[in-house]
Amino acid sequence: MVKAEQVHKSFGHTEVLKGIDLEVAAQEVFCLVGPSGSGKSTFLRCINHLEKINAGRLYVDGRLVGYRQKGDRLYELREREVAEQRKDIGMVFQRFNLFPHMTALQNVMEAPVQVKGESKAVARERAERLLERVGLADRMRNYPAQLSGGQQQRVAIARALAMEPKLMLFDEPTSALDPELVGEVLDVMRGLAEDGMTMIVVTHEMGFAREVGDSIVFMDDGVVVESGNPRDVLTNPQHERTQAFLSKVL
Ligand code: ATP
Ligand code: MG
Repeated sequence: MVKAEQVHKSFGHTEVLKGIDLEVAAQEVFCLVGPSGSGKSTFLRCINHLEKINAGRLYVDGRLVGYRQKGDRLYELREREVAEQRKDIGMVFQRFNLFPHMTALQNVMEAPVQVKGESKAVARERAERLLERVGLADRMRNYPAQLSGGQQQRVAIARALAMEPKLMLFDEPTSALDPELVGEVLDVMRGLAEDGMTMIVVTHEMGFAREVGDSIVFMDDGVVVESGNPRDVLTNPQHERTQAFLSKVL
C-alpha cells in the first residue's frame, strides 16, 4: 500500500530524512517509533505530499505521490491531482484540529460535502454511523469545546474515516491526552485495525505497538535503524540506539 525507496527530505541545509526505505502492506498496522526530531512526522507528511521529497520515490497504492513519471522524468502533479490523491489518505494529528464552530456531526460531514460534493443526507447518514462506531452516538450535537480530549480525538478519527480512505496516518494521536483518556482512542484504533484498515501509526504507546502492530520501524536521525515484528523488536532490540530509546519509553 505504501512503498518508500530512498526517500530524502531536507529543510534548507538540514537533511531530515536520509534515505528511508520501507514497505507497508495492505491491511497492515505499521508502527513508527523513534526519538523527537528523528523525522517521523516529516515522513508522514511526505506520504500525503504536504512535504515534497528531494530524492527517492514514494508510492501509495502503486501510484507515485505528487508526481507523474514519463520515461526517466518526473512531472509534478497539479494541485487538483494532489488533492485527488489525498482523498485516499486520512490523517489524525496529535492536536485534534476540529472546526470549533461546528458540532461533532458537522465536523464529520464537512469534507464529504465540501470536497466530494456529496449530498448532505448521504454525508449525515455516514457521519452518524461513524460517530456511533467511535462510541459517540450521544455526542453528535456537541461542539468540540463540550467534549473531552479523548472524545475530540475520536471525532477526528471519524472525520478522517468519512472520506473512506484506503490508508490512515496517525501522528502521536494520544500524546496530547490525559492518561485516562488514552485507552478509549487506542480502542477505536484497534477496532479499525481489526476491520482491516491499513494504518501507519507514530506512537510512544509500546503496548499498542506490541498488541496491534504487525510491523514496527525504529527511526533515528532520519534513517531506519531497525525494523521487524513488534514482539521481536520490543523484547529483543538488536541495535544499541533502539535499546537506548526503548529503555526510556518502556
Ligand atoms: P517528534 O517526536 O518531536 O514529533 P519527529 O520525529 O516527528 O519528532 P519531525 O517533526 O519530523 O520529527 O522533525 C524532524 C526534524 O526536521 C527536526 O529537526 C525539525 O526541527 C525539522 N523540521 C521539521 N519540519 C520543518 C520545517 N517545516 N522547516 C524546517 N525544519 C523542519
Ligand atoms: Mg512528530
